[in-house]
Amino acid sequence: MLTVLKSLETLWLWREQHEGKDIGFVPTMGALHAGHLSLIEKAKSENDIVIVSIFVNPIQFAPNEDYDSYPRPLTKDREKLDNVGVNALWAPNALEMYPEGFETAISVGGITKLLEGSYRPHHFDGVTTVVNKLFNQIRPTRAYFGEKDYQQLQVISKMVKDMDINTKVIGCPIHRDKSGLALSSRNAYLSRDQLDIARRLNSVLKSAPDWMRTMEIAEVEKKLEDILVQADFDKIDYVVIRNAETLKPVKNKHEEKMRVLAAVWLGKTRLIDNMGI
Ligand code: AMP
Repeated sequence: MLTVLKSLETLWLWREQHEGKDIGFVPTMGALHAGHLSLIEKAKSENDIVIVSIFVNPIQFAPNEDYDSYPRPLTKDREKLDNVGVNALWAPNALEMYPEGFETAISVGGITKLLEGSYRPHHFDGVTTVVNKLFNQIRPTRAYFGEKDYQQLQVISKMVKDMDINTKVIGCPIHRDKSGLALSSRNAYLSRDQLDIARRLNSVLKSAPDWMRTMEIAEVEKKLEDILVQADFDKIDYVVIRNAETLKPVKNKHEEKMRVLAAVWLGKTRLIDNMGI
């Protein structure tokens, strides 16, 4: 049976009752899909109990972004969590998370200024602040994050390391549909035609490892961008090859672990994807 927790008081009581157990935690913004469920399955296989949070975090959205329109199918989400045997759902409202007078922020330096950070300047501060609060509220043994939001995973890992947080951060592979499209709650915004175009994103990125064998990084990045433009994406924020841990530009492609990362637009919808090289 799924226990639904909506106030900090009930969450802390629940937490006290499970002292000494291995607690797996999967933070989400809801509109759950098979990608989220793959994180939950991993959490179930490695812990005594699993708690999922659903919280659409206002402070990680810029004023022009989709905070108001973000899908919130809470009843369906509860059913899904119950069906897969999750023990608890932490679903606070915005006022429970940020009561009147809240004015603290957690900010990771360096890596948050790159890629997503340069297009969404306050985004990562919003993410690290809420994840820090969630970690304090739940004190999980392990927390599960998808490689779908690859930079977020690196940022959270850095925060946990820098702040001595006693939670193990576990990165999980990207769950894709048959065409290779990374599942995302935001895919629901796409029209049929846009979905057809979105499905090309991953197949384009898949060419990168091959090209990297014979071409310079800048040439590969240029070729990827040209092909994405030809594939009818409306705008390319970036498509780059970076060091897989720091996300800084690669200095030596023969020595560093690398990742190709992209952010593109279809109409008003921004899609991200990435893969290892
Ligand atoms: P979100 O609800 O979009 O904030 O995502 C919650 C968590 O699920 C994050 O750690 C995401 O990286 C992860 N996630 C979202 N989509 C996928 C996917 N297709 N495959 C794996 N993890 C995912």
